[in-house]
Amino acid sequence: MNKRVIGLLIAVISAATASCSPMDHSEGAQIGSAVNGPRKIGFLVYNSGDAYLSQAQNAFAGVAGYKATVNFKDSQNSQQIQNKNIDDYIDKKFDALVVNPVDRTATSIIIDKAKRAGVPVVFFNREPLPDDMKKWNRIYYVGAKAEQSGAMAGEIMADYFKRHPDADKNKDGTMQYVMLKGQPGHQDAEIRTKYAVKAVEDAGIKVEKLAEDTAGWDRNKGRDKMAAFLSTYGDRIEAVFSNNDEMALGAIEALKRRGYFKENKYIPVVGVDATPDAIKALEEGTLLGTVLNDAKNQGRALFNLALALANKQTPTKENIGGYELTDGKYVWTAYKKITKDNLYDTR
Ligand code: BGC
Repeated sequence: MNKRVIGLLIAVISAATASCSPMDHSEGAQIGSAVNGPRKIGFLVYNSGDAYLSQAQNAFAGVAGYKATVNFKDSQNSQQIQNKNIDDYIDKKFDALVVNPVDRTATSIIIDKAKRAGVPVVFFNREPLPDDMKKWNRIYYVGAKAEQSGAMAGEIMADYFKRHPDADKNKDGTMQYVMLKGQPGHQDAEIRTKYAVKAVEDAGIKVEKLAEDTAGWDRNKGRDKMAAFLSTYGDRIEAVFSNNDEMALGAIEALKRRGYFKENKYIPVVGVDATPDAIKALEEGTLLGTVLNDAKNQGRALFNLALALANKQTPTKENIGGYELTDGKYVWTAYKKITKDNLYDTR
């Protein structure tokens, strides 16, 4: 083969590969090809560095396959950037949007824009206020009930205390705990915090909060806040709650530095999400438990809903893959307790 033929072949192969690519992650890139489904769906997350949301995004991408043309945008933790990206998708005539809002109390603007342009929106993970959800009948939400995850985290901790009387280190009949909170105002931060403690009390165990602080869902912040708790309260802390696994893993790093998790020095730490790193920590015996936040089903439900809406259908259980629609617009996935005993039960 001469050089021209080889060059031509390479060009044909790369064009074919490009048009087969089901996803386009680039900012404002030209999208759409003959191979992908004709509908265009825009997917926006508050921060692409979020471990849990990457799982949901991967699940979404997996089920989307070639069924639609999907474009992803990172809002870089700025509602302003997200709003601009939404304008851009609307200008480019996207058929439906999937939005993880940066600020769940600021969705009214997004809904107004979408309604004006006739582009339906499925929100997820950060629940818009009920009044905003009522503003248009092409607005949906996929998420999970924060009360359930909070209660399950509390039950895992309460069970541990009941089975291990030594966990009450000072023998005062009270669980001295610290709490790492996610972003203030996020329903999962506020409600998980409250329901975790309530579940311990409901199990008949008295509690004393030594400290509580926000670590913004972030592992490094979780580590630093835990180090600060340890320097104030030292070994008086008997239990560590964290609103998510990332902050719990950060707390574990700080605890390891203080000599925990070797030579019988142990403290129970409970998170939420069941991310792959959290499963590793359960295996190594540092994390006591977590609660599965079902990214796979959320991703699937999101895509099915978005596609039905993009096709101008009214979503029903039948055309969104069997997911139940509550009040005609909410899909709720179930949480599940995960400990060393059912490690691989993450569906
Ligand atoms: C998850 C966190 C995540 C947050 C983002 C929560 O439901 O548990 O891990 O950082 O959502 O909004």
